[in-house]
Amino acid sequence: LSVTDDLTGLYNRRFFNNNIDPFFQTCQRNRLIFNIVIFDIDFFKQINDKFGHPNGDKCIKEISYILKKNFNQSNEFIARYGGEEFIVLMPSTDSRDAFTIAERIRNSIEGCTCENMGGITVSIGLSERVDKEIIDDVINRADVALYRAKEAGRNRTVVYE
Ligand code: GH3
Ligand code: MG
Ligand code: MG
Repeated sequence: LSVTDDLTGLYNRRFFNNNIDPFFQTCQRNRLIFNIVIFDIDFFKQINDKFGHPNGDKCIKEISYILKKNFNQSNEFIARYGGEEFIVLMPSTDSRDAFTIAERIRNSIEGCTCENMGGITVSIGLSERVDKEIIDDVINRADVALYRAKEAGRNRTVVYE
């Protein structure tokens, strides 16, 4: 069974789900706070329609490259979570710092030419783990935050509160 995703080289969703627990337990043991951050490309269906599926693939690749550049994969656990969705577990970071980092990445995605497609944006949902919370709950709250970012007009980062 493969661990990584063919298109991006990032960990796939199955690997993320199967390995999140030990990662989570290490954080817990060391009393590290952490954040879950979910990135979702905006209006990606329209991008595929407009530029074609192969160009859509290039866009996913370029965004995953930006994520790899901005995260340290030995510290932060990052995976392609869905077709056009990425998830990151960021340890030792409170939600304010995570927000700053997420916004920096969002800006560099917005500024990237994406093979001349241009104007490609992402929405980002972010949630800090609150005490004793299980990992699934942290992920669900990041997902709620992502939904709010979409509802509020996309191309933004929302922290769950
Ligand atoms: P939203 O802003 O609400 O996220 O809109 P959206 O169009 O991005 O979201 P939706 O979930 O409706 O569509 C996601 C699209 O992503 C549909 C699917 O065809 C496309 N997609 C998923 N995986 C891949 C892939 O590997 N390559 C390409 N080119 N497209 C993909
Ligand atoms: Mg999606
Ligand atoms: Mg999308």
